Amino acid sequence: MSENITEFVTTEAQQIPVVAQTDVVVVGAGPAGLSAAVSAARNGCSVTLLERYHHLGGMASGGMVLVLDDMVNQGSEIVTTGIVSEFVERLERIDGAVYPPPEDCQRNWEMWKKWSRWGCINFHETGMPQPILHAVAFDPDAWKRVSLDLVRDAGVNLRLHSWFSEAIVEDGKVTGVICQTKLGRQAIKADMVIDATGDLDLAASAGASFVLGQYIVTTVFRLSDVDTAKAEAFEYSHPDEYKLLDRQARRVIGGAWGMWWLKTPLPGVVWCNCPHMTGYDGLSPEGMVAAEYEGRERMANLLAFARKNIPGFENAKMLGAAEQMGIRQTRLLRGEYVVTKDDVKSRRHFADSVCRGRDYYTPYRALLPTSLDNLIVAGRHYSVESEAQKLSREIPPCMSQGEAAGIAVSLALSSGSALRDVDVSQIQKQMRAQGADPGDIPSSNALVEESLAS
Ligand SMILES: Cc1cc2nc3c(=O)[nH]c(=O)nc-3n(C[C@H](O)[C@H](O)[C@H](O)COP(=O)(O)OP(=O)(O)OC[C@H]3O[C@@H](n4cnc5c(N)ncnc54)[C@H](O)[C@@H]3O)c2cc1C
Repeated sequence: MSENITEFVTTEAQQIPVVAQTDVVVVGAGPAGLSAAVSAARNGCSVTLLERYHHLGGMASGGMVLVLDDMVNQGSEIVTTGIVSEFVERLERIDGAVYPPPEDCQRNWEMWKKWSRWGCINFHETGMPQPILHAVAFDPDAWKRVSLDLVRDAGVNLRLHSWFSEAIVEDGKVTGVICQTKLGRQAIKADMVIDATGDLDLAASAGASFVLGQYIVTTVFRLSDVDTAKAEAFEYSHPDEYKLLDRQARRVIGGAWGMWWLKTPLPGVVWCNCPHMTGYDGLSPEGMVAAEYEGRERMANLLAFARKNIPGFENAKMLGAAEQMGIRQTRLLRGEYVVTKDDVKSRRHFADSVCRGRDYYTPYRALLPTSLDNLIVAGRHYSVESEAQKLSREIPPCMSQGEAAGIAVSLALSSGSALRDVDVSQIQKQMRAQGADPGDIPSSNALVEESLAS
């Protein structure tokens, strides 16, 4: 195991070719990185986007996380707009998204039966039926396609199959990044860098402070040939029998949310957001291999159980497990401000809020490391307590963080200032100009405390 390593090799210094010189390099092309790259490019920067895999989208495509959550405050106020809305519109145009119309966003059994198996419910409300709200079920391949279109249209220099390995730091400034490719190591030089790896690979390598967090790990999967109408009809006509079977299924998979199977835009294909596996380190190859074995076994057990016992699943087949393991939390930045669980739960508003999700606000300071002037982060590794991150890491708010980070680097470049000296009101103004909600104006249910608001 890596923690017991006692032997090391020393390598010789190498000459590494510089394959791009760019205003901004974004590392990681998940929801946050993609939004950051597009936003920076649209604001006039030359941008290089680096991604280790062959596709764009991170957890939203390779990780097959297939519902956009945390988009709504108080039932009807859509708070993740801007690039998120543009993305949803583009997905819809290619039949890659399904969500309830506003008139269906109600709390009653009729709407519950219509929308709950799409995952469009307010999981934070107690009592049944939970309210239906604006959340978007989407297709992972459509996500990849829309991402590519956006990146191409924005003129971003895309480099796939490029695994970031280390930051180039000179005089306390990140001057570029090094990645590993089939052709060997390559360098990209940049004036501004955005870490959107989800695991803080770049910022950690550059010397930024961080803490290690952990949460459940899940390789999600999809089943095909499911008669979803039959399964739903059984669920509502035999509620007690269904509940018993559902409880057994969750025991077989070994941990899952209540709604462990959801419909997808592909008829007969369901998304299984499970199993929940604990104790795995999402940074360790050994840990990930062990999780892979465990996950596969649990999926096979569930499939066998569902085929045998759950009406509608008799002919179900394994369509495929996600290409990427579902890692929710690893390194978390310790930045200029650390968002706490109390901040999230009490809906604390910050004067320097640059984006928001559900009913929580993200201060600009939570995207900035304490030490480096030209590095900003966007995504699930932002500066937040572990318990708070579990409540504030959904795809849409990560995209909004990326959109704000893209604006911030363009403002820093045009003013020649450090990222921490950027005028936050300018970021907020530009977010609004892009159709995004920076959270500068607190909603009626926000906690506004002047002493903490700056
Ligand atoms: C199982 C599971 C279920 C979830 N369910 C939901 C849900 O229902 N709804 C919801 O909205 N959210 C959900 N989430 C949360 C959400 O998916 C993530 O928090 C979100 O995708 C984070 O976006 P990100 O861009 O910060 O990171 P990621 O999506 O992890 O993207 C990071 C990107 O960086 C790339 N990268 C990483 N390291 C390197 C490197 N060294 N070099 C180059 N590239 C690199 C990765 O390949 C990836 O493309 C779920 C997460 C999991 C794991």
